[in-house]
Amino acid sequence: MKAPAFRYRRPATLDEAVQLLADAGDDGKVIAGGQSLVPIMNMRLAEPETLVDLTGVDALRTSRETPSGARYGATTTHMRFEYELVPDVTRGLLPYAAAGIGYPAIRNRGTVGGSLAHSDSSAEWPTVMSALDATVHTRSVRGTRAIPVRELLLGFFTTALAPDELITEVEVRRLAASTRWGMYKMCRKPGEFAESLAVVLGERDLGGRGVGERGVGEWDDPNGPWQEIELWLGAATDRPLRLRTTEAAVRGGTSADLEPARLVEPLAEDMGQDLSGLDSTARYALQLHAVTVHRALRAAEGTTG
Ligand SMILES: Cc1cc2nc3c(=O)[nH]c(=O)nc-3n(C[C@H](O)[C@H](O)[C@H](O)COP(=O)(O)OP(=O)(O)OC[C@H]3O[C@@H](n4cnc5c(N)ncnc54)[C@H](O)[C@@H]3O)c2cc1C
Repeated sequence: MKAPAFRYRRPATLDEAVQLLADAGDDGKVIAGGQSLVPIMNMRLAEPETLVDLTGVDALRTSRETPSGARYGATTTHMRFEYELVPDVTRGLLPYAAAGIGYPAIRNRGTVGGSLAHSDSSAEWPTVMSALDATVHTRSVRGTRAIPVRELLLGFFTTALAPDELITEVEVRRLAASTRWGMYKMCRKPGEFAESLAVVLGERDLGGRGVGERGVGEWDDPNGPWQEIELWLGAATDRPLRLRTTEAAVRGGTSADLEPARLVEPLAEDMGQDLSGLDSTARYALQLHAVTVHRALRAAEGTTG
């Protein structure tokens, strides 16, 4: 199937883009990489009368480092993150996440703003940007807003954006040198959306004390327990989920202390599931998420190899 007919506008400035979107009213939509919107239009699940193409607006393509981190223009493609053509303030997390999205052709067109506005919890950016506590900056004819990604994503394909509002930038804070990160995407084959997606950010206690090779004293213990930890899970519920109960189970230990099976119970609690009432499909999904979280933890500990 092909998309129904639509009016196509390609503004050169942000002012023009927000005006065109406002003029189009409820029947207008912006298009960025088109990697989610076009398939949806082809299936006739969306039939906008006017498409406002953002790719001609230079201001939306620009990224810059700031004293506290970086701001990425909304139409920055996944590939520009992957190949570090934009500043990376996360010591590798953003390029790593981008490299796992779809196929090269998808990464070449798809954009960070489009992915967040689309709000698919199986996609990389919603979970990664939630874990990083990123903020989107938006613009409409009524003015500008700053919305934390954690408040932007309201559910499957549902965000806090107004119909006439577009994302202009995504702001990411610089990760502290002491912060460890790990990410694991479970999917059947490369290029597919995640069946489970976990991101770990945290601080480990690296100060060992006792009798080591160099005698009694203090040294860096690469296996130090997690002191602070944030766990985020994608592809499990309608939006990225913070796993507070699982975090508590992990804190004070490492992945070596916890087999994936021991994460199932806290995970069920985080997901609001009653273990005793689950059918085999739901149990399988839970076990998949437990393995994913465990692998992300191991990645953050550098113990995967
Ligand atoms: C075969 C295939 C495999 C894929 N695999 C993955 C994957 O593994 N992981 C993954 O994360 N994604 C995957 N994707 C999705 C891809 O990353 C999309 O590019 C992305 O989700 C949407 O970005 P886009 O720029 O293409 O947005 P578009 O398709 O242009 O738009 C998507 C939605 O966002 C809105 N929008 C776009 N830009 C803005 C903006 N600046 N402000 C407000 N609203 C905006 C549009 O109106 C539309 O509603 C895949 C897609 C395909 C086709």
